[in-house]
Amino acid sequence: MSDQEKRVVGDNDVVSLEYTLTVDGEVVDSSEGHGPIEYIQGKGQIIPGLEKEVYGMAVGESKEVVVSPAEGYGEENPEAFVEVPKSEFPPEIPLEVGTPLQLRDQQGQVFDATIAEVKENTVLLNFNHPLAGKTLTFQIKVVGVRPATQEELDHGHVHHH
Ligand code: ZN
Repeated sequence: MSDQEKRVVGDNDVVSLEYTLTVDGEVVDSSEGHGPIEYIQGKGQIIPGLEKEVYGMAVGESKEVVVSPAEGYGEENPEAFVEVPKSEFPPEIPLEVGTPLQLRDQQGQVFDATIAEVKENTVLLNFNHPLAGKTLTFQIKVVGVRPATQEELDHGHVHHH
């Protein structure tokens, strides 16, 4: 076994992680299509319930992690639902349940929403994160660990050389 293989994940390590995310029995995201994620451990760059489980894992190790909504994308906030008159939507937007929308406020800030319900004259928009209130099941595998460089720590993100 090489030194690299014996290294386990700790704070300020750059971790490469393969993952499959399953919600309600359906795969909703996976690194298979786009490669492993890389992040700096201990900086809150991935959801807390997942990050804490990666501590102490070695390269090549895999496990299943079940993350509660509170440690994932949060509980669904009932106040994050807003009813909007249908007349305010441009005609090209399909008013169907599940349609994702991006809305811009007067300051230019962009908000993601999903159509939760279509009523007779109004549309109910859900501004919660689509995974809010969901229990997340991750199948993860650590495929790389190395100490972050000082520059990466200063910048707060991983550099690819
Ligand atoms: Zn940078």
